[in-house]
Amino acid sequence: MTSPLSSGQLTDCVALLGPELTPFRCSRFAWSGDTITAADRVEPVASLETGARVVIPGLYNSHTHLGDSALPDGATGLTLEQAFFRPAGYKYRELAKLTRETHLPHLEAHLRYMARTGTVAHLDFREQGPAGAELLRAASAAIGVESIILNQFNESPFPEADLRANRPGHTLPPAHRTELDAMLAVADGFSESTMNDLTDAAWTEIRAVTEAKGKLRAIHCLESAGYRDLSLATTGRGDLARAIELYDPHLVVHLTVADAEEIALLVRAGKTAALNPRANANLGLPLPPIAALLRAGANLLLGTDNGMLNSPNLLAELDFTYKAAKSQFADALSPDPTAILKMATSNIRPVLGGDHYGALEVGLPATFVVLDFTKDHLRHTRHLAASIVTRVTPDDVLATYRHGCPLYLSPAFEI
Ligand SMILES: [Zn+2]
Repeated sequence: MTSPLSSGQLTDCVALLGPELTPFRCSRFAWSGDTITAADRVEPVASLETGARVVIPGLYNSHTHLGDSALPDGATGLTLEQAFFRPAGYKYRELAKLTRETHLPHLEAHLRYMARTGTVAHLDFREQGPAGAELLRAASAAIGVESIILNQFNESPFPEADLRANRPGHTLPPAHRTELDAMLAVADGFSESTMNDLTDAAWTEIRAVTEAKGKLRAIHCLESAGYRDLSLATTGRGDLARAIELYDPHLVVHLTVADAEEIALLVRAGKTAALNPRANANLGLPLPPIAALLRAGANLLLGTDNGMLNSPNLLAELDFTYKAAKSQFADALSPDPTAILKMATSNIRPVLGGDHYGALEVGLPATFVVLDFTKDHLRHTRHLAASIVTRVTPDDVLATYRHGCPLYLSPAFEI
């Protein structure tokens, strides 16, 4: 941590309280050490007359690849395969050229930017094996934004012929079994690009190892139809069905091309999905079926995906997602903007548990963001939640705190 624990309070503010993010005018919002100690409600409030400071839960970015934030917009003009796939994709070629000394400052700079845009934690699908995980751990310790690291193998464990044969004996090669243990000694869990990158036997093995160690499991599914098609051709099952059956992931990422049957499967299995609409759009892929997933009652999160594709700015992702969802619902009523804000806050709890609430209440962690709704473009909002989701810019963030530690303080912030 770069900053000490603090105590403080805001008076006459608005705070979004509880997991439903209900806005209340509060006479006092206070914290001491790492805990919220007061949220003194005056009355519920939906709009503002003369502005206020607005306190929201710290944001969770549930899908990043911060490693390639060293290459902003490097994927421009490249296909998904050309830019991102191992072993010869642009990303992997360029990452291999960076040393610890040249790579670390990029990670730290982007973590600082995340704090500056209201993000307190992110789930990073970190490439480059244990060394990659260790590098991000170091950056996170320096900046204070929590990196929840889901590590992937440095090199693919199987030749293409073994992947397509997918025999029961195709378990992890000994060197990769050793690498898995080394990754899980540093990281919070495991991730891989697609289900098609490992054999069924390896997925079963990794599930058992991660379960035994109490680690998280995440996977990209259905980012494009190719993921499903290759899985079907190899195993007779689509990649989402295969992930749920063999790997039992805590988090499924993308679902860009999920159909009604796959959405129903996700919800039946009680799985959480992280959507990444800006990244999908930037690659020329369809937008994820946000409206269909919300209608089906799926627990949804949001991610900004690769640093190459997007700035890790969740405020931009919230705006884009809300408007894309409105277009998909095709009515004036849906979705409730609060449902979109939950995707970056309280919906995280079923996945991470522990001290991750994504919500504000007395006794919960002092992990919050203060927004300056006294500014001209925000002070007369007729709908607080809609304005938080669509109008707040990085410049409107006054402070970001995680567990009572200030990760970002604007010069304009006074307590
Ligand atoms: Zn990813």
